[in-house]
Amino acid sequence: MHFFGDLNIAEDYFLCDKCRNKNFIRICNFSVNFRGVNFSDDLIYDELTKVTYQCTHCKNTFSKQEIEKRLKEMIDERLKSLARPKK
Ligand SMILES: [Zn+2]
Repeated sequence: MHFFGDLNIAEDYFLCDKCRNKNFIRICNFSVNFRGVNFSDDLIYDELTKVTYQCTHCKNTFSKQEIEKRLKEMIDERLKSLARPKK
């Protein structure tokens, strides 16, 4: 089997682990994080945007990190299943 140039293209989706749905919407939280500074009245602050992905079916939520980790695992599995046994 020639993998490159093959028309047989596989597509793996990240699926919700509760309901196996593959559709997600993005939810953003915007916040400002304040920290005091020693020996000073100054405040340091960071503006933060937190992104969560929510299953459109069961409303289960996932972080970007969780999704990226799972996608990496899916890639590993796919590559392993393509690996031909050595002669
Ligand atoms: Zn779901």
